[in-house]
Amino acid sequence: MFEAITDSLKNAVRKLRHFDDEASLKRVLDDLKKSLLKSDIHHKVVKEMIAKVEVRTKERGIQKDYFVKALETSLFETLAAAGNQGFVYAQKPPTVVVMAGLQGSGKTTTTAKLARFLKSRSKKTLVAGADLRRAGAAEQLRQLCSSVEVEFISADSPIETVKAALKRANDGLFDVLIVDTAGRLGIDADMMSELAAIKNAANPHEIFYVADSLAGQDAVRSAEAFHRQIALTGVILTKFDGDATGGIAISLASQIGVPLRFIGTGEKTGDLEIFIPERIVSRLMGEGDIATLTEKVTAEIDEKKAAAIGKKIKKGTFSFNDFLAQIEQVSKIGSMKSILGMIPGAGALSQKLGDLDLENSKDIRHIRAMIGSMTPKERDEPDLLSPSRKLRISKGAGLSIDEVNRFIKQFRNGAKMAKQFAGKGGMQKFGALLSQQSRVRA
Ligand code: GDP
Ligand code: MG
Repeated sequence: MFEAITDSLKNAVRKLRHFDDEASLKRVLDDLKKSLLKSDIHHKVVKEMIAKVEVRTKERGIQKDYFVKALETSLFETLAAAGNQGFVYAQKPPTVVVMAGLQGSGKTTTTAKLARFLKSRSKKTLVAGADLRRAGAAEQLRQLCSSVEVEFISADSPIETVKAALKRANDGLFDVLIVDTAGRLGIDADMMSELAAIKNAANPHEIFYVADSLAGQDAVRSAEAFHRQIALTGVILTKFDGDATGGIAISLASQIGVPLRFIGTGEKTGDLEIFIPERIVSRLMGEGDIATLTEKVTAEIDEKKAAAIGKKIKKGTFSFNDFLAQIEQVSKIGSMKSILGMIPGAGALSQKLGDLDLENSKDIRHIRAMIGSMTPKERDEPDLLSPSRKLRISKGAGLSIDEVNRFIKQFRNGAKMAKQFAGKGGMQKFGALLSQQSRVRA
C-alpha cells in the first residue's frame, strides 16, 4: 500500500551519502518532490512540505539525520493535522454518526466494520440503513449487520429511517447509532440535499467521509465538496489493501483539514484499523524506521575504513580481522541489505537479498567465536591455519572441527569473491554469489 512512496523516500535517503552542502540538499529535495508528486500528493501540499523540510534541515545544519528527522516531522504534522483519532464517544449517548461518500467508496462495508469494531469494545450499537435509493442496499447492510450480530433498522424513507433509529437508540439505551446513506457516482445536488436533510434530522456528533484510497486526487476533490456542503468531522480511507500510494492519506489530511480516523484494509468486516499518524509515518519512512537506520549507518560506517578494506580486498590481503570487522558492522546495523543500500550502485543488489538478517544468525555467532579464538597473528594471516591450530580454535570456540573448516572455506571463497567483486564487472558476479547464498540459506 505504501510501497511507492516508501521506496522513493528510501531512495532519497540513500542518496544522502555525500550530503553536506546546499547543492546536495537541493538535489535530494528535488528527488523528494518528484516522488511525492508521483504518489498522488497535491502539488501545493508537496511544495509546503518541501519548504518545511528545507527550512528545518537548514536550521539545524545540512546533515543526513537532520534531514531525515525534518522529513519525518513534516509528514507527521501533515497527517496529524487536525484532532481526533479513532472513535470518539459523545458525552451523552447515543453517539450518532452519519456515513457519507460516493457510491462504491465503501460506506456500507465500513458501516458494518465500525459496528463490529464498536461491538468488540462492548458498545451497544444500532445501524440504520438510510440508503433507500438502490434496491438491495438496505438488504446488503441488514445481512452485514446480522453477520456481526448488530441490530439493524430501516424504514420507508431516509428521514423516516433516521427518526425511527433515533427513537430506538434512545429507548434501547444504545451507545452508538451509525447511519449509512446513499452515495452517487459523482458529486450531485440531489445527493447533497438528501444528506443535508439526514444531517438535519439526525443531528450527528460525527459525519465520516468514506474515501476510496484508489481514487487519487479525485477522492480529495470530492471530499472537499462534501466538506463544504455538510461539514465533515472525520475521514475513513478504504481499500488501503489495494495499490494506493499512501499519498492520498497525506493529501486528504492536509487539504481537507479533517482528521483521518480509520483505514479499511480489506473486504471483511474485521478489516478496519484506527488511523495512527505515527504508525503511518514510520511506514512511509520505511519498514522500521529509516531515521534510526540512517543514524546507525552514519555512526557505524566509517568511509575511510571502508576504503582501506576495499584496497585490501583488491590486493588479496583481506584477513580474518577485516572479515570480523565487516561482520561486526553488518550485525550492528542488522541487515546486510541496509548496508548494501548505502553503497552507491548496490541499491538494486540489496533488493535481491531480501530480508537476509545477519544479526541473529547462528553462523555469525559461530564465526565470531571462531575468530575470537584465533591469535592476532592467525587473524592476520589465514594461511597459518594448520590442522593443529584449527583443532585448538575449534575447542576454544566450542565448535566442531568440521564447522571450523566450513567457516574457513567460506571465508576463503568470500575473500576470493570479494577480490573479483573489487575488479571490473565485479558487481554482477557478487550479485550472483549473493543470490546463490541467500538461496542456500533459505
Ligand atoms: P458503498 O457504495 O459506499 O456503500 O460501498 P460498499 O460498502 O458497497 O463497497 C463497495 C465495494 O468496495 C464492495 O465490493 C466492498 O467489498 C469493497 N470494499 C469496501 N471497503 C473495502 C476495503 O477496505 N478494501 C477492499 N479491498 N474492498 C473494500
Ligand atoms: Mg452502500
